[in-house]
Amino acid sequence: MCDVLVESFPNIFNVEFTAQMENELDDVEEGSKTYETTLKDFYTPFAETLEKAKLTMRNIKRQEIPTDIVCEKCGGATIIKWGKRGEFLACTKYPDCKFTSEFTKDEEGKITLIKMEATGEKCDKCGSDMIVKTGRFGKFLACSKYPECKSTKTITTGINCPDCATGMLVERKAKTGRFFYGCNKYPECKFATWETPLKEPCPKCQCVTLLAKVSKAGNKVRCPKEGCGFERDDSGTEKA
Ligand SMILES: [Zn+2]
Ligand SMILES: [Zn+2]
Ligand SMILES: [Zn+2]
Ligand SMILES: [Zn+2]
Repeated sequence: MCDVLVESFPNIFNVEFTAQMENELDDVEEGSKTYETTLKDFYTPFAETLEKAKLTMRNIKRQEIPTDIVCEKCGGATIIKWGKRGEFLACTKYPDCKFTSEFTKDEEGKITLIKMEATGEKCDKCGSDMIVKTGRFGKFLACSKYPECKSTKTITTGINCPDCATGMLVERKAKTGRFFYGCNKYPECKFATWETPLKEPCPKCQCVTLLAKVSKAGNKVRCPKEGCGFERDDSGTEKA
């Protein structure tokens, strides 16, 4: 922002100019120039600069900053643009090439594109590839044609909810950053657990999913159904 100010007010931040201003004030004192003329000499270009600066500053958010990243789709140059969600990287060949990407910037300003994970899943609306994105509530699937197609899907574990049996368990992120599993039928079904669901029915009751608690003492597998009480030690055996 400081650079912008200096750029917009070249005269004022110019040392020579300040010296000249001083001289002119001296002149006023000596009576060789009227005070009024001096003020006008100073104020007129200043007012013009101010108007220009207002325009520049208003446009600053729309400024496009060139980067050294090459467009993945067409090999063209890319620029940083401003959108509703903040900065993003876009191809300069837009609208011919619609490549855009989110990115991160390190302390030295080095840009790293956020790689989008392919999933093999197709968008229900347009048939394009779905990619994994990370949002406020953890990972989710989004159409790779975003922003043209805004279709999203939750990632399910493929494991049925032990409570309602028809819902699927999805990974969610708690405010603390810790992950838990919840039913995708929420809010109708409020099942949620910190434990890891197993794709394995309870051998004792009708429950479709067992839960595993991983700890240093070993993995404990239990049935989440109240009153069932099924429990087993599962140390050393990893289950997906
Ligand atoms: Zn491109
Ligand atoms: Zn789509
Ligand atoms: Zn459920
Ligand atoms: Zn059970």
